[in-house]
Amino acid sequence: MKKFVIVSFGCQMSFHDGEIIAQKLIEKGYEYLKGEDERNSDTEIIIFTTCAVRGHAEERLYSRVQNLKNRKKEGNLIIGVGGCLSQKEQNKLLKALPWVDFIFGTQAVSRIDSILDEVIETGKAYDEEWFIDGEYVPKSEENVDPDGLKAWVSIMKGCDNYCTYCIVPYVRGREFSRKPEDIIDEVKFLTQKGIQEITLLGQNVNSYGKKPAFGIGFPGLLDKIAGIDGISRIRFATSHPKDFSDELIHCIAKHDKICNQIHLPVQSGSTSVLKLMNRGYSREEYIEKALKIKKLIPDVALTTDIICGFPGETDEDFEQTLSLVQKIRYASAFTFYYSPRKGTAAYDMKDLLPEEARKKRLWNLIEIQKEITKQETAKRIGQIEKVMVDSIEKTGKYNWAGRSDHNRVVVFNSDQELYGKIRDVEIESASSWTLFGKKIND
Ligand code: SAH
Ligand code: SF4
Repeated sequence: MKKFVIVSFGCQMSFHDGEIIAQKLIEKGYEYLKGEDERNSDTEIIIFTTCAVRGHAEERLYSRVQNLKNRKKEGNLIIGVGGCLSQKEQNKLLKALPWVDFIFGTQAVSRIDSILDEVIETGKAYDEEWFIDGEYVPKSEENVDPDGLKAWVSIMKGCDNYCTYCIVPYVRGREFSRKPEDIIDEVKFLTQKGIQEITLLGQNVNSYGKKPAFGIGFPGLLDKIAGIDGISRIRFATSHPKDFSDELIHCIAKHDKICNQIHLPVQSGSTSVLKLMNRGYSREEYIEKALKIKKLIPDVALTTDIICGFPGETDEDFEQTLSLVQKIRYASAFTFYYSPRKGTAAYDMKDLLPEEARKKRLWNLIEIQKEITKQETAKRIGQIEKVMVDSIEKTGKYNWAGRSDHNRVVVFNSDQELYGKIRDVEIESASSWTLFGKKIND
């Protein structure tokens, strides 16, 4: 049977799509070269799930597929490109990379098996049908690592927010929530397979259950999932600040199983830039919400996304971003310089700084956040962290590694077999994101 690899770029959603594609192809009898990529010379089918959020992600994909040109000439290789970039570019992508065999859209992952059949039988590279909506696919046996501890569960797709810089609503379609009972069934199935930590995925999980209206929102869903035996930890991404309700804050505070790590993208610290971005909150509203979260959820770690050099961002606006970062003190931040995306509202906005100037702001921000991250990590020294042990540490003097509630890496020593166990670890020292400690209980 044909051997295949999946190569995913971008966000967790793209990697999750890759997992579902792998599941579908294994069910068909193909052999998955898990952990390998397109450079593996045994592979006969290569499927990319791509990202279009920034220009850089697109360039990387193009160069990786360029490298396959010669191998494709040698024959017997099928290359498929799915995900956000193929949804955005469609036939343009096939023209630029003619040795790609077929492309398919973001909503067609559930039909990849029949699409591949059609490609093999007819040699067709594109079909409108491959870009229309398909069913949600729950994870099955094939998709669960028998030794795995963690899994993603998609709870909704698409996005209706139309932040002016963002391509996601155009390539992932309208927001649509998955039925709560289907989500619960999938989580239960995963726990039976030994999964202990679930990360719920959606572009804006806080608006879960609005479309269609199920009469249950995100806090209600979290309550139900927290009630499932076998689940030790629940994480979720991403939260839009405008929809982060008091009910949600109380729900997180109430359940020990829900990790005290919240990704709350701010994007900018300036109200006028936030308005241009169509984010739906002001600097003051964001700060108020973030401080409320910090007050009501003890020992919470906030993380964020920030864009530097959005069109019209002045030096003063950027200073406001820096001051917000210093005020909130994020545990860590994903920082980007603005990348114009054709088709989005911001693409035609005026006063775009040259790329070099946008990058300079980014470096400035990175320097400041790096120091905050280091200081926030150092604050963990002397504390006791609950660590889910997920790997054997092969280097240095420690032998076990895992993740704290905040998702920091924690390494420590123990003679016992601890894989998959949650243990208290007292932190003795720290580097910028890794904590070093000693186990204090059994
Ligand atoms: N749904 C999530 C993730 C969206 S994409 C959310 O709303 O947070 C992930 C991040 O990429 C965004 O939060 C934003 O910071 C960044 N991003 C999106 N479009 C961008 C662009 N055109 N230029 C630079 N960064 C961008
Ligand atoms: Fe993009 Fe905004 Fe939707 Fe996030 S909320 S996916 S940034 S449009």
